[in-house]
Amino acid sequence: MPNPRYRFVEQQLAAVETTLATPAVRQALGETLLSGLNDVLGHLTIANTRGGVITIPDDDGDTIPVVALSTGDNFLLGPEFTTPTNRQRASRIRTFTEWAPGLGDAVIMDREFTIRGQGQSFTQRVTMPGQTGARTMAPAMMLDFEEMARDCQLGFPPSALIAKFLMRPLVVLRMGSAAPDVTSHELTHVTQKIVRPVRLYSSQQDVQMDALADELPAYGGGAEVRRSMNGGTSAGPDPYRQIEADTLRTRHNRGTSDPFAASPELLDRYTRRGMPILHEHFDFDMALAAIQAARQPR
Ligand SMILES: [Zn+2]
Repeated sequence: MPNPRYRFVEQQLAAVETTLATPAVRQALGETLLSGLNDVLGHLTIANTRGGVITIPDDDGDTIPVVALSTGDNFLLGPEFTTPTNRQRASRIRTFTEWAPGLGDAVIMDREFTIRGQGQSFTQRVTMPGQTGARTMAPAMMLDFEEMARDCQLGFPPSALIAKFLMRPLVVLRMGSAAPDVTSHELTHVTQKIVRPVRLYSSQQDVQMDALADELPAYGGGAEVRRSMNGGTSAGPDPYRQIEADTLRTRHNRGTSDPFAASPELLDRYTRRGMPILHEHFDFDMALAAIQAARQPR
């Protein structure tokens, strides 16, 4: 007997599939975005929540779990979330190969084990914060990039100080309130975490621009889905202001070479409108202090 949580996720995924199959949405989204979303849909599964722990049934190494939570729910993440998916690992190897040809993933795996051996933990709990309709999280491992570049003989001076390695994503929907446009926004975030699992930061501004660069296409796709809902007629109120966010981005970047370019000026415009479009709160200075305190003696 499926529980209500399970039934809700099932309904949401079916609604997204139906929406993405309609000609209006297909045309609005374009092939690239559409195939990315469909690809993620093919890897989604409904998470198991028995015993207060989120685990992944039928995991093939690339399975992305979805769960529906209410405010106040508090779950532990299962061990599946402490390693990357196969595809994240492949993306990561590609990044490393660009940095230093011949350098494989071994060096990173080595560090994953060391870090776990030292007892440093990943995010272990998942909750549903108020106000959000959905979110996509991925536990992350932070590494001292200066140290790593030296040990791996990357052959270039590192301009970044922190390397963040994303592990398997989890999509969290708000029980009773998600909609196809919100869910497709989150599926875009899943793609980003799979394709770009390594993030380099040298300042808090890097953190913000990296987060903004992820949000702009997610709002873009979400807005297109929203515009096309109900056969292209009004889809009603837009609680997450996806159309407004996308319109602002389009206007701000008009005439530039990259319509999705992230810039401090654009972020500032969202802030002044009272649109906190960045959901990840990562304190660069605190992370750097922790990393440097754990630095291996040379
Ligand atoms: Zn987002």
